[in-house]
Amino acid sequence: MSGAPRLEIDLDDVEHNTRALVGRLAPRGISVQGVTKAVCGNPSVGAAMMRGGARGLADSRIENLAVLRRGDPRAPRTLVRSPMLSQVDRVVVEAGTSLNTEPVVLAALSASAAGHRDRHAVVLMVELGDLREGVAVGDVVDLARHVGALGGLALVGLGTNLACQSGVVPDQRSMDELSGLVDAVERSSSLVLPVVSGGNSANLGWAMTTRSVGRINQLRLGESILLGTDPLRRASIPGLRLDACVLVGEVIEVKTKPARAWGATAQSAFERRPRRRGRGTVRQALVAVGRQDTDPDGLTVPDGMTILGMSSDHLVLDVGDHATAVGDELRFGVDYSALLRASTSPYVTTVEHRRPDALR
Ligand SMILES: *Cc1c(COP(=O)(O)O)cnc(C)c1O
Repeated sequence: MSGAPRLEIDLDDVEHNTRALVGRLAPRGISVQGVTKAVCGNPSVGAAMMRGGARGLADSRIENLAVLRRGDPRAPRTLVRSPMLSQVDRVVVEAGTSLNTEPVVLAALSASAAGHRDRHAVVLMVELGDLREGVAVGDVVDLARHVGALGGLALVGLGTNLACQSGVVPDQRSMDELSGLVDAVERSSSLVLPVVSGGNSANLGWAMTTRSVGRINQLRLGESILLGTDPLRRASIPGLRLDACVLVGEVIEVKTKPARAWGATAQSAFERRPRRRGRGTVRQALVAVGRQDTDPDGLTVPDGMTILGMSSDHLVLDVGDHATAVGDELRFGVDYSALLRASTSPYVTTVEHRRPDALR
């Protein structure tokens, strides 16, 4: 193995989760874009998503899209964060499609794309209440007509993103509104919009239960594929694997210590009122994983252990009756925040693995 801390990603689980979601959405006419930003555009993860039936890969950062392109130049790539004006030249190279809201950026994309063989595809994002990116509903038809007339660009659809900023739940009303806008754009122009991108993993509850998907025909899925969870309640999705991504840390000290700190206490490095409760003693283990590696609030510890605290470089555990020894490796479940930070930390190695054929 390649040392600790390390993030282990089971590519068979990623493929399985993708295939399960693709299979459930296909009968509803909805295809899947695999979102790789929580793993920094890891090309092996992208390939597993494509094997599982994703139609394309999507990421919020141009650097990650470049990594994906080097991994598999043929997989369609979408930039899901509105392009920086300063990066439009790279956007048209690294992404076939981008999600957009700003006329000045669209003009720059148009100028940049004009020199390329293929037109750059544009999805306009609509603000439907979550208050992150999006064009006001009343401005969509005009902007769509404007984009439709720009050289170098092809307006391929509309999209929206809910639940990320304000926790607004995608529902029939918002999805019907998006479908209605697609109809309105098509009526008021000669355009046909093949892509209607309803949202992210938070849309799954709606998509699986609605009687009518309307014109929604695409979801952009990251968390549900990587972690098997529904971000609205962080509930596990039946049939999906929950431990595709695991953080491994190494134990560097195990000692029995008093349950309570002694001496006068003030603030600690990261907590305003650090408190160790309880009586007697605890068997305490230090793991060489800290806030520079992951988000302590997003870790799931092995059964029978509890987190007593975490600072920059140490995770402090009460290991109870576990026969934990110095040098042991412990495995932790991660939520989206812990996964994102582990992927991004220069101190954490990512190790992708597939199971031996015999076990598949
Ligand atoms: C991150 C992101 C997604 C994927 O969200 P998940 O909750 O991980 O499925 C989809 N669309 C946009 C615009 C995003 O930024």
